[in-house]
Amino acid sequence: MNQPSRLGEIGRAGDDHVVPFQVETLDARGRVVQLGPLIDQILERHDYPESVARLLAEATVLSVLLGASLKFEGKFILQTQSDGPVDMLVADFSTPGSVRAYARFDRERVEQAVAAGRARPEELLGRGILALTIDQGAHTQRYQGVVALEGQSFEEAARVYFRQSEQIPTDVRIAVARQVVPTEGGRRERWRAGGIIAQFLPDAPERLRMPDLHGGDGDDGSGPADFDDAWGEILALLGTIEASELLDPTVGPERLLYRLFHEHGVVVYEGVTVIDDCSCSRERIRSILDGFSAQEIADSIEDGTIRVSCEFCSKSYEFDPAEFDAG
Ligand SMILES: [Zn+2]
Repeated sequence: MNQPSRLGEIGRAGDDHVVPFQVETLDARGRVVQLGPLIDQILERHDYPESVARLLAEATVLSVLLGASLKFEGKFILQTQSDGPVDMLVADFSTPGSVRAYARFDRERVEQAVAAGRARPEELLGRGILALTIDQGAHTQRYQGVVALEGQSFEEAARVYFRQSEQIPTDVRIAVARQVVPTEGGRRERWRAGGIIAQFLPDAPERLRMPDLHGGDGDDGSGPADFDDAWGEILALLGTIEASELLDPTVGPERLLYRLFHEHGVVVYEGVTVIDDCSCSRERIRSILDGFSAQEIADSIEDGTIRVSCEFCSKSYEFDPAEFDAG
C-alpha cells in the first residue's frame, strides 16, 4: 500500500473509486466505495426486474469491496447458488479494477415473490451457498471460502464468512437505490450503490492477505463475539451510517469517513478506480465450446451457425459448426 494521506489531501474520490482507509487508534482498516456509472451500466444492460437488479447491485458492491484488497494480479469471484427465485449471482472483480456481474433467475417466481411482498434480497436468494474465490493465476493455488446462505442478507453473510473462514472481525454495510437524476432534455432513473467494509486487525496486517482462506474450524459463527473496546467503537460508529450516506455523491467516501472517524485520526490511501469491463473473448467462448460433446454442438446449431452471447456483457459471438471436431 502506498503512502497514507490525511482526508482532504487526495481530493474527492468520486464515483466508482474504492478508497482504502485505516483508523490506527482503533486497529481497524477498511474500504469504502460509491458505485455510480459502473453499476448503472451493468444493471441497465440486462434490464433485470427491479428486485433482481437490487440484489445483484448488493453482490457487486461486496465483490468490489473484497476484490479491491487483492495484492497481486488476479481475480475475485463472488458467486451464489441457492434455491430461491434468483438461483445464481456472479460478481467478478479482476485486477486492477474490472468488474462484471450477472444474475440468473426465474422471472415467474420473481414476479410471484414481488406480488406476495417477499422480495427482500434474502428472500429472493433462499437457501444455498455464497462462495468467495480468489484466483491469482495458473501458478498459484485457487482459494475458495464458502458460507451457507440461510435467509440472511449479504451483509450478514459477509460477517459470518470472515468470522468463520478468517477469524477477522468484520463489518459490512451496503446500500442500493434507484434515483431520479436530471439529464439533458429530461430526467431518468439511475442506479447507485455504495458500501463500506471495516476489519479489526490488532497487530497483524498480513492477515488481510487472502491466502488465509480455508474452510471453517467448526465455528458455526454463532458463538459469543469477544469484541474489545476498539472494535466495539467501530461497530457502534458503522451502526450510525445512513443508507443515504453510502449513496449520496455529495457526501462521498471521504466525507463519510470524516464524519465517522475524524476523532480517531483516520487516514486514507490511494485507491483503485473500478470500471464496467468484461473479460470475455472469442477464444474463451471457443474453449468452452471445445468441451462440448458432439450432441451438444449439434444441439447448439441454429440456422447453420452457433451463436453464444456472454452472460455478463451480452456480447454475441458466432461460430461455424465446422470449426469443431464434433460439427
Ligand atoms: Zn462478456
